[in-house]
Amino acid sequence: MSSLNRMSSETHHYYAERALLASGWADNVLFSVKDGQFLSFEANSKPMPDCHLLSGPVLPTVANLHSHAFQRVMAGAAEVSLNPSDSFWSWRDLMYKIVQKLTPEDVNIIAKQLYIDMLKAGYTQVGEFHYLHHGAKGQPYQQRSEMSSQMIAAANDSGIGLTLLPVLYSHSGFGGQAPNAGQARFIHSTDSYLALHQECHDQLVNHPRHTLGICFHSLRAVTKPQIDTVLHSLAKDCPVHIHIAEQQKEVQDSITFSGQRPVEWLHNEIGLNERWCLVHATHLTDEERQAIATSQAVAGLCPTTEANLGDGIFPGVAFEQENGRWGIGSDSHVSLSIVEELRTLEYSQRLRDQQRNRLHRPAQNSVGDNLFQQAVLGGNQACGVSLGLSQGNRADFMVLDSANPFIAASESKDLLNRWLFATNENLIKDVFVAGNHTIKNFRHQQEESSRLAFTQVIKKAMNHA
Ligand SMILES: [Zn+2]
Repeated sequence: MSSLNRMSSETHHYYAERALLASGWADNVLFSVKDGQFLSFEANSKPMPDCHLLSGPVLPTVANLHSHAFQRVMAGAAEVSLNPSDSFWSWRDLMYKIVQKLTPEDVNIIAKQLYIDMLKAGYTQVGEFHYLHHGAKGQPYQQRSEMSSQMIAAANDSGIGLTLLPVLYSHSGFGGQAPNAGQARFIHSTDSYLALHQECHDQLVNHPRHTLGICFHSLRAVTKPQIDTVLHSLAKDCPVHIHIAEQQKEVQDSITFSGQRPVEWLHNEIGLNERWCLVHATHLTDEERQAIATSQAVAGLCPTTEANLGDGIFPGVAFEQENGRWGIGSDSHVSLSIVEELRTLEYSQRLRDQQRNRLHRPAQNSVGDNLFQQAVLGGNQACGVSLGLSQGNRADFMVLDSANPFIAASESKDLLNRWLFATNENLIKDVFVAGNHTIKNFRHQQEESSRLAFTQVIKKAMNHA
């Protein structure tokens, strides 16, 4: 077992001059970790003789609620104008071409490097929305869960926590339209999906960091009887993810098919609750937005990918006023930065409204504090985990670099705003996952070998793309 997956049964003590606890900022915090969990927190303390002194402010880590790991290989490769109407759909054509070339080994290498980069960015859990299931012509692998196993192996090697979301993808459009050739590697029937889910369950059961959810690609890709069967057949308490209302065309196609918009349809025909993570949910009427907020489902926002693909702007200001729940995902991985995701989200609202300081709540008027807090809470709910500096939680935390002047000079009440709105370089110096020191002084122990392997996979994937 690698040192990143070891669970120490000894008690380890840590000391930080300041830490963002679940109850807010505290000074001179002594805390202890045992069996990968937080055992206790004591503010206004002194360091113990054998405790590990943390060099900067300590923050909770964030669950990255939406990832398609293989798409990392094409980040930045679709930024040349070839067509006056380049869109999400022309980007998808390139994605389908590249996906044809990837072997299970390639996917493992991409995912491992991606997960290392996520850890360095302060994400310690990832919701892997995994739909690349089969061989190049759509033939199943000998082991049905071959590709899922590669994701699990990459998570184990990197030390990140995985919320595996095996995807049911059966159709190319609303009403059960036959899949197209580019989708051959993604397609499952309901029965083969349930068998895949069982294989994934068998691999993940009782894992200390990993968990399993349910996932429908989109309302384009599944029918109502399929959703009903899957929800009826599988665990009643795990997260359920779906892409929804990302593109105007999808909304129009939904109306043509059913007379209802996507979120309206899901709300009326299936029902929403806190198990659901509605990924994107960009194009909403007031009623749809209120239905999501009232249901306590999470809106899975992917601000840098949504900006890159030209999706649209999420109605964040109204959703905040309705106490809507949301978290962030890096999705296509054009960015691996909590700072950039949250900043892009806030700035999208400012640009639309021609006003400043948009995403805050009555109980939290500091934008940076509100953004970070909502991202932690929403990521937890959507990934089925409990990250945060609180007794009994998994001992995940990160340490910011106190050599940075903005970090060093800020009072705690200003620190998140300084970090999120004044800095560009990665200031996350150390990251701990379940008590394991996974990122030490900005470095992961396997990053050199992983980078070399990833370089080769990029070259191969982009050759004649
Ligand atoms: Zn996605």
